[in-house]
Amino acid sequence: MVDCGLSVLMVEARDRVGGRTYTVESDGTLYEMGGTWVTHHMAYLFKEMTRYKMDKDLTLTHHRGYGNDYYTINVPDATPRTLTHEEAGQITARAWSIFVNADGQNCRAICPLPHSQLNNILVSREEVERYDKISCRDRFEEIKHLLSTEEAWILTALLLHITGGSMVNSSLWDMIRSQALMSYDPANFSPIWTTFKLRQGQSALAGAMFQDAVDNGLQYVFQTPVKSIVERSNVVTVTTLAGRVFRARRMVSTIPLNVLHTIMFDPPLSPTRQEAITIGHVNYMNKIHADVEGSGLTSWNGMRYPNLLMFGYGDGVTPSGRAHIVGFGKDERATFVPERNPEKAVDAFQKLHPMEVNKMIFHNWNTDPWSLGGPAWWPPEFMTKYQEELQSRHGLVFFASADWAHGWRAAIDGALEQGSQAALQVVKEIREMRGVMARI
Ligand SMILES: Cc1cc2nc3c(=O)[nH]c(=O)nc-3n(C[C@H](O)[C@H](O)[C@H](O)COP(=O)(O)OP(=O)(O)OC[C@H]3O[C@@H](n4cnc5c(N)ncnc54)[C@H](O)[C@@H]3O)c2cc1C
Repeated sequence: MVDCGLSVLMVEARDRVGGRTYTVESDGTLYEMGGTWVTHHMAYLFKEMTRYKMDKDLTLTHHRGYGNDYYTINVPDATPRTLTHEEAGQITARAWSIFVNADGQNCRAICPLPHSQLNNILVSREEVERYDKISCRDRFEEIKHLLSTEEAWILTALLLHITGGSMVNSSLWDMIRSQALMSYDPANFSPIWTTFKLRQGQSALAGAMFQDAVDNGLQYVFQTPVKSIVERSNVVTVTTLAGRVFRARRMVSTIPLNVLHTIMFDPPLSPTRQEAITIGHVNYMNKIHADVEGSGLTSWNGMRYPNLLMFGYGDGVTPSGRAHIVGFGKDERATFVPERNPEKAVDAFQKLHPMEVNKMIFHNWNTDPWSLGGPAWWPPEFMTKYQEELQSRHGLVFFASADWAHGWRAAIDGALEQGSQAALQVVKEIREMRGVMARI
């Protein structure tokens, strides 16, 4: 918007840009607290990576060739075992493919255009809505007889890893959408979702975008949480928690779905949008980094279910030669708050694989007041009932969030998609307004 000559003020609650992407540097290693993995399949994101010359400046999560170059599986009613990464990949891919193939055509029939899921030229809306009612639990019950015990538990853990919620409150549709975005091929799972990281870190990309905007005239205030948004006589008035007041002709809100209930709107939001906000998304995942003694586990990946951390991935080696592991768990808020129970996190790592944890680093997005959850995973029927309303404007206020993006919802690309679309509309409207004023 600043590129187009508009006067823009960014009002940010935190002391930094990047939101749910955030890179922490410690002892020469970069740790991604939130959004991490990138791919050229994410067009909005890849365009920004290219613009700031980060598209080729990548690093890998998985490094082969260290001592523990294998995959461990530990699930109920099956003997824990060690496999090659390829074997584990095949088991996971088979279970996932059976699960997600709800239309018998690998999702190509029901989700042919993943950036246009509800209304497209190939599938009727009614048909999509039928699938959108299904929970991960419903679908699992339908197909579990096709799986071995081991596959069933691996699939369960994988689904919970992705949704950060429960089998009951997570929609099958978001899995179908993900399969479509992965070009309908589970072989793309790892290359798209868990392989490539920005060598300089996500905060460097967010910082580059921010600096570019500042160079073009963006004004900004940090540590300034918004409390209310009021529209009167073609002006939006934003009041902050500390009582500062800003006025604008248009506003783009990036406030996450699970935070919107803390903001007072006048005129009030529609009943449908309020309902969506009250329900919120279901992702309350845990992501915890650990540096462990020795470099061997750099090449290890593994899973255990049930466990507070269901998956662990070797995520590089530190300058001091320690393996850096990243662990993922589902919604465990009832019994596990990592900042209060670090000993439980250590225990969860050690249950995944014997290891001596030297250091842990994490950011709890679930207790963070400016996110109140992880990447947005939707419950059944949420898309049918609320997607269009969440994407729509409220008078002069636009809503741009990855939490309700068309395509890569719950991903960095979705945030950029939504921001780009809102910015285009704002620029158009302000230009038209200026044109009218110039003619008067
Ligand atoms: C643990 C984790 C792992 C992830 N992994 C990946 C991944 O590997 N790849 C991927 O593509 N995506 C991943 N994601 C998802 C991705 O990071 C998010 O979907 C995306 O960053 C959300 O962007 P956003 O702009 O919609 O929201 P946010 O990034 O949350 O931005 C919203 C902004 O609004 C601010 N704000 C909130 N409330 C107020 C207020 N009242 N007043 C003023 N400002 C306010 C926030 O501080 C924030 O800066 C992950 C997310 C998490 C949490």
